[in-house]
Amino acid sequence: MNEILVLIDPSSPALERADLAAAQLPVTDLSAHRGDGIFETVLVQVETPDEVTVVSRGRHFERFRASASALELPDPDPDLWNRALDTVIAEVVAADPSITEFGVRYACSRGGQKPGGGQAPRGWAFPVPVDDSIQRVRAQGISAVSLDRGYDAYLGSKAPWLLIGAKTLSYAVNQAAGRYAVERGADEALFVSHDGVVLEGPTSNIVIRRGDHLLTPDPAAGLLSGTTQRLIFDHAAGLGLTAEYADLSIADVLSADGAWYVSSMRTAAALRELDGNPIAVDDDLTTKLQTLIKAG
Ligand code: PLP
Repeated sequence: MNEILVLIDPSSPALERADLAAAQLPVTDLSAHRGDGIFETVLVQVETPDEVTVVSRGRHFERFRASASALELPDPDPDLWNRALDTVIAEVVAADPSITEFGVRYACSRGGQKPGGGQAPRGWAFPVPVDDSIQRVRAQGISAVSLDRGYDAYLGSKAPWLLIGAKTLSYAVNQAAGRYAVERGADEALFVSHDGVVLEGPTSNIVIRRGDHLLTPDPAAGLLSGTTQRLIFDHAAGLGLTAEYADLSIADVLSADGAWYVSSMRTAAALRELDGNPIAVDDDLTTKLQTLIKAG
């Protein structure tokens, strides 16, 4: 994976090609010490160097705009951000024409103090590899432990300052939950609201199958609305399934006919075990979901 970084100046607007390995961000940037910014990670599928698919490109940008609005950041210009994405993709594919998939992460920080006052948002975009850990969870699935998210379901509309549902750069809690899960012998955490409603993983949504129905927690319950989950729901009928939002309990997940952690880079990983209890595994649907998601 080559070391390209594209710096994005939303105010000019302008793009600048830079070196990913070199220092770029002043420590005074509010993303660096407050996590004050937003980001997206998209999966890119390469059929041939001329046939490239950015999975859920529009869904990601729509959410990026919604996150910007929630944080009162300037509305991102689609032309500028699409150009940044395309620049990274073109460079990665040119450097390695045999590459079949990779990710691109793009972010916008509130920036730092401008010399004359006010803040100057800054953005960046760079490639991320589909590494062995992603391939492993796609192939083998995962185990999880349920963890209390610390708030009741449906709190977000009453407490917009919590930014529940925005994809911000403040991921320290999500990272800590992941470490906590690993210390307890599981691969992942499963966040559950304080009043017992299943929410999401630290970097993924959960989808279960009950008979012919796919079910996932309602984003309004207090989680990030996933582009992958929405892609699956938009195509569920083609799999002969209906798709609905529902309040799910841990018992619902344990009694499901299949459960998956879904997110842009991992696509769909079977959730095989929760809190030490086995969950039914549907290998056929895992393969179908992964194929569907990669097709974008
Ligand atoms: N929930 C959280 C907290 C996430 O960080 C992510 C992924 O980034 C998701 C859900 C899944 O979202 P997506 O499918 O858009 O990758």
